[in-house]
Amino acid sequence: MSDCLFCKINEGSIPAEKIYDDNGVFAIKDINPQAPVHFLIIPKKHFSTILEVKETDHEMIGSIYSVANQLAKKSGLDQTGFRIVLNCGAEAGQSVFHIHYHFLGGRVLKWPPG
Ligand code: 5GP
Ligand code: ZN
Repeated sequence: MSDCLFCKINEGSIPAEKIYDDNGVFAIKDINPQAPVHFLIIPKKHFSTILEVKETDHEMIGSIYSVANQLAKKSGLDQTGFRIVLNCGAEAGQSVFHIHYHFLGGRVLKWPPG
């Protein structure tokens, strides 16, 4: 999608260091981290919200589990714990309308979230 931040980062027209990259998914560090570790795991296909994800996308979305697993081991958070968050819509605080999974850790995370 032409006017989308994460599509532009994926295409390279906006710079960001990819810490993970495969055919369907990439990951970057969040520009405004909310925890010592704060990655964004992003499917390359543009979905504005999870409400656009169809059954035919399930395999690609499912691969996000394996990316999270790898990032957990790489960052050492597999030893301590981490949280994955996906915000959907205005009241959940979604600000970039291309779905992304926040991968957070490196401190004690409170529950319930704010
Ligand atoms: P949301 O609020 O939609 O759940 O999350 C969007 C996230 O994208 C925020 O945590 C925000 O800090 C991050 N973000 C916004 N712009 C950029 C950017 O240009 N680069 C990176 N790496 N992260 C960004
Ligand atoms: Zn997009």
